[in-house]
Amino acid sequence: MTEIYLDNNATTRISPEVLDAMLPYLTDLYGNPSSMHTFGGQIHRKIEVARAQVAALINADPDEIIFTSCGTESDNTALMCAAESYPHKKHIITTRVEHPAVLNFCRHLARKGYRVTFLTVNHEGKLDTDLLIKEISEDTAVVSIMHANNETGVIFPVLEIAEIVTQRGAIFHTDAVQTVGKIPIDVKKLPVDMLSLSGHKLHAPKGVGALYVRKGTRFKPYIIGGHQEHGRRAGTENIASIIGLGRACELAGGNLDEEATYLKGLRDRLENTLLERCPDAMVNGDTVNRLPNTSNISFEYIEGEAILLRLNEYNICASSGSACTSGSLEPSHVLRAMGIPFSAVHGSVRFSLSRYNTDKDVDAVINVMPGIIQDLRRLSPFGREK
Ligand code: PLP
Repeated sequence: MTEIYLDNNATTRISPEVLDAMLPYLTDLYGNPSSMHTFGGQIHRKIEVARAQVAALINADPDEIIFTSCGTESDNTALMCAAESYPHKKHIITTRVEHPAVLNFCRHLARKGYRVTFLTVNHEGKLDTDLLIKEISEDTAVVSIMHANNETGVIFPVLEIAEIVTQRGAIFHTDAVQTVGKIPIDVKKLPVDMLSLSGHKLHAPKGVGALYVRKGTRFKPYIIGGHQEHGRRAGTENIASIIGLGRACELAGGNLDEEATYLKGLRDRLENTLLERCPDAMVNGDTVNRLPNTSNISFEYIEGEAILLRLNEYNICASSGSACTSGSLEPSHVLRAMGIPFSAVHGSVRFSLSRYNTDKDVDAVINVMPGIIQDLRRLSPFGREK
């Protein structure tokens, strides 16, 4: 039985076109791009093609793109770089709903003596920019606020945030791991200094990412060694994956609006039908400014993990929080920050779609979910029979 995969914010399938582009670099074209010989040199030129493809998706210049090993490395690099570039500034601002790649690195910097402000969000997962205006000061080295949340899909007002941060002379980094390839991004219009992205969220392989660094931004490398990436990120390049990321960006850019409309149609049908057929269910997060592929629904009085296990029996893959936190029964830090009641936080399920999902996938969930919810409520330790 093939899986019905609705967990695309955790990771995505490599698209066949991306795999085709990568294969020669896993077989015959194995040279080292730093070598003097022609065999290596040709690979160097292909990396530059991939760099231009990634840049084009966000309207950056190719030399503003640094390849990394993942979104986490891009986030860590941005924060470390900003902190080290402005050593006299000792304040960092982020939000309580960031991915652990940002949250835990900020905590790490706090242990090193930085003062970190974790801005809160409202019940819909939205950020009030007045809070940022109140907290930002001459001492703020960097503000790191995600473009869209991985659990709820809520999109933050990054243009407004970027303008506030730039005016105050701090570095603005945005974690755009969940938005690149899903919604339009134009760094010529959006004054962000640094932006993180990750291959495996847009149908490229795992283990490759990129960091956009605006021309003129002070930059200090995080990974130190050889001269790769023009001295900005050492280590022999993950050629095949870089080529794959380039091709994935090219594919995403060619189809952005159409794909968003398609995904929104599927997502809305799934969401509306589940809300209609399952009592005591509610959507978490602002439904207006939201990624087109994401739906986070709480089914009250039951455990999200129990729902996932039952869905798994039908080979339906979803998630009860970010992939990094599932596995522990810790309730989602995002939903908690939003002030969602405990009974609803525990019963939350995230469905996240991709271009490879179809109406049949949505039908499969709609068909089994009401029965699953009814069964679990009967057995609920919360004692609510619905
Ligand atoms: N940032 C966000 C918003 C994410 O959703 C993720 C992955 O789930 C990451 C960062 C980390 O990316 P990677 O898995 O490439 O390290």
